[in-house]
Amino acid sequence: MNFQFETIIIGAGPAGLFTALNSKISDKTLILEKNQSAGKKLLMSGAGRCNLTQFGNIRDFFSHYGDNHRFLIPALNEFTNYDLMNFFNNHGLKTINIKSKIFPETENSEDVLDILLHECMKKKVKINYDESVKSIELINDGFAISANNYDYISKNLVIATGGKSYPTSGSNGDGYQFAKATGHTVIKPKPALTPVYISNYKFKEISGISLGERKITVMRDNLKIKIHQGDIGFTHWGLSGPGILDLSRFIEANDVLKINLINQNPEIFREMLNETAITDGKRTIKRFLKNFTIPENLIKLLLDQMNLETSVAISSISKIIRNRLVEIFCEYPFHVQRTGDFNIAMVTAGGISLKEVNPKTMESKLVKNLYFVGEVLDIDGDTGGFNLQAAFSTAFLAAKNLS
Ligand SMILES: Cc1cc2nc3c(=O)[nH]c(=O)nc-3n(C[C@H](O)[C@H](O)[C@H](O)COP(=O)(O)OP(=O)(O)OC[C@H]3O[C@@H](n4cnc5c(N)ncnc54)[C@H](O)[C@@H]3O)c2cc1C
Repeated sequence: MNFQFETIIIGAGPAGLFTALNSKISDKTLILEKNQSAGKKLLMSGAGRCNLTQFGNIRDFFSHYGDNHRFLIPALNEFTNYDLMNFFNNHGLKTINIKSKIFPETENSEDVLDILLHECMKKKVKINYDESVKSIELINDGFAISANNYDYISKNLVIATGGKSYPTSGSNGDGYQFAKATGHTVIKPKPALTPVYISNYKFKEISGISLGERKITVMRDNLKIKIHQGDIGFTHWGLSGPGILDLSRFIEANDVLKINLINQNPEIFREMLNETAITDGKRTIKRFLKNFTIPENLIKLLLDQMNLETSVAISSISKIIRNRLVEIFCEYPFHVQRTGDFNIAMVTAGGISLKEVNPKTMESKLVKNLYFVGEVLDIDGDTGGFNLQAAFSTAFLAAKNLS
């Protein structure tokens, strides 16, 4: 037996739920969710605190979605960060601003999910849990959807299955197969917002230390691929922190990350070294390096790596070693072994090709009444609430256009 609906949405994550509750035909809408409950990944977000979005002008968001940000502009303009904050405020959940990151006042993602589910219930959206979609097929005037329990038919189909990261949350890339079955191109998915493993890593003993706003240059085959400024953190096996996570979408195995560990222009640093050797030659290298914002144990570790005593006087350091100091402190080369896999990546780069989706409606350009929302699209945002904002904004736009 086939169950018939006006709209079927695959996936009860933030994008699927928000599409359903904003649709004019929400009472004729069914969400199919493979898990026994909705929003498993949403509950994990922001370590359970749910960083919903960012504070500030929506125009400042555009540069936070990698190379594909242009596609998102209509969606972000149509449903902005303020619209998102107002939505939750109007439903009794105030938001708070912590260093420009917006969280629910309760700092509990369950409260966000509760409102989404409550609104779906009020608007008579039906949700079938434990119903994993296995295949979809184009039929006359709609779609035939086959799931593990039942078969369905719908006029509109919204694919809100998320990406491939944290597959235990339910989003394991099924949506890409559904898109391919309807003739869509899938840009190869890649883990993003993920830490980086470093070959021959020599910083294990200072794991836990972080450095604020450092310049990171991604080098590939001796060419500069990307330059980014952000916080970095040393882990047991490599690098993390927002600066590294945001760059990870561009990083590949065997790249070299050159990091300016003291936030000082290399040429100025070289001049300072040379000048100090002349004017204050007895000054120890340790005292000299104290002029810069870098923790003492990191200074010691770096000098150890160079076999240089902390007590050595600047004037007795040869030109070759001074050049090496410039390299180590201003352009330390971290050789990338690999980036973290989908099990630890917070989002997925790649996904449904944006060339085949209308950015003003989220409707497929290839198949009428087929929509894509949220992370399944070839869009990934920086850390700080940009991904949830994209999920809500794309969902809002699709909902507005569902008829
Ligand atoms: C640990 C972690 C922390 C994060 N923190 C933040 C944060 O603080 N701020 C932020 O902006 N972003 C954060 N993100 C990213 C953000 O959670 C996602 O970008 C967002 O959830 C994407 O929403 P979505 O609805 O598109 O997909 P998902 O939330 O992935 O939802 C997709 C749903 O589809 C269902 N589904 C998949 N395939 C099928 C199928 N075949 N049949 C039926 N159902 C299916 C899944 O079970 C899932 O419920 C975080 C991610 C992780 C992993």
